Amino acid sequence: MPGVVADRRYLHEHPELSFHEDETARFVADRLASLGLDDIRTGIGGTGVTALIHGGRGPGRVAMVRADMDALPIEEANEVDYASRTAGVMHACGHDAHTAMLLGLSRILMDRRDSFAGIVKVLFQPAEEVPPGGAIAMIEAGALDDPHVDAAFGLHVASEYPAGRIALRPGASMACGNIFSIHIHGKGGHAAHPYRAVDPVVVGSQVVIALQALVSRETDPVNTGVVSITAFMAGEAFNVIPDTAELRGTMRSLDDDILANLEKRTAAMCEGIGAAFGATIELDITPGYPVLVNDDDLTAIVRGAAVDVVGAENVIDMPPVMGGEDFARYCKVCPSVFFNVGVRNDDLGFNWPHHHPRFDLDEEGLGAGIATMAESVLRYLDQVNG
Ligand code: MN
Repeated sequence: MPGVVADRRYLHEHPELSFHEDETARFVADRLASLGLDDIRTGIGGTGVTALIHGGRGPGRVAMVRADMDALPIEEANEVDYASRTAGVMHACGHDAHTAMLLGLSRILMDRRDSFAGIVKVLFQPAEEVPPGGAIAMIEAGALDDPHVDAAFGLHVASEYPAGRIALRPGASMACGNIFSIHIHGKGGHAAHPYRAVDPVVVGSQVVIALQALVSRETDPVNTGVVSITAFMAGEAFNVIPDTAELRGTMRSLDDDILANLEKRTAAMCEGIGAAFGATIELDITPGYPVLVNDDDLTAIVRGAAVDVVGAENVIDMPPVMGGEDFARYCKVCPSVFFNVGVRNDDLGFNWPHHHPRFDLDEEGLGAGIATMAESVLRYLDQVNG
């Protein structure tokens, strides 16, 4: 797909951070206009863009396909002629490919619009990388209305899977999660006289240990979650008890209710431990994304399309992953499906993980992703519009 590769490389050279995808959105809108899409709308929920492809066989249901446009605050370490031209900013998660692939899909579906009834809405969203993400603002701005979206489709390139493979699963596929910080306010003093102080290091240690029980003793081991304390900051001297300590961490699950319970119980633990030790403990939780749940029927459509496009031997029934994804917001409001497109190639050195300064992808994999998406959307529209 020459046009897709050229677009992807152009976008790779010109990365923009979350919520600042102004030039990317302009590039997208220009492309959509030159392809002849209808009703191009820009500035939705920030830098979001939507446009419509009307099927030539009459009105009907609406399928939405989404791409994310943002890059990461990473200095690119790849020495390729399409390397980032912006210091400290890099498309290290493949969203450049997602944007280029959705433009490629737009071209294919424009060419084939006489073959379907209904409407395809293409949606380019800002800020997948930074919760609360760009999807909420687009949904609140009405991006799924006028015309109302009946089903949402999305994809992610994946360095875990070889180019040419498609991976997906029905149901809960990607985790919900949060990040949190816990501030412990004790009372500092001389290390020789701890009885005159409230030692936040000791109180914080109790919190660390207590939170280990939330998963091991309070959560169903079959339908579970994870709590990790990843930072513990307090004091700096050998002989001074500090006033305060701070803990940081994250919680994740494949079930929104489990995460909600972990959060509720963390708050109760902090309050109880604070009261027991005479410290004040503040808990700040920054929500991440909800769990991404693939609709069973749509997953079956995509799986069937993928089998025909890449062959059954190249379709992977993947396990759920504990990463989060802003696409989950669409799953909350309409039947949705999200699948992975392999872009790994060990021979060519395309095997660095996402968010790494040397992340790059085998562009040969993009065609399989676009063809699978096109076939999935057309099958869906054929099924619901007859
Ligand atoms: Mn990503």
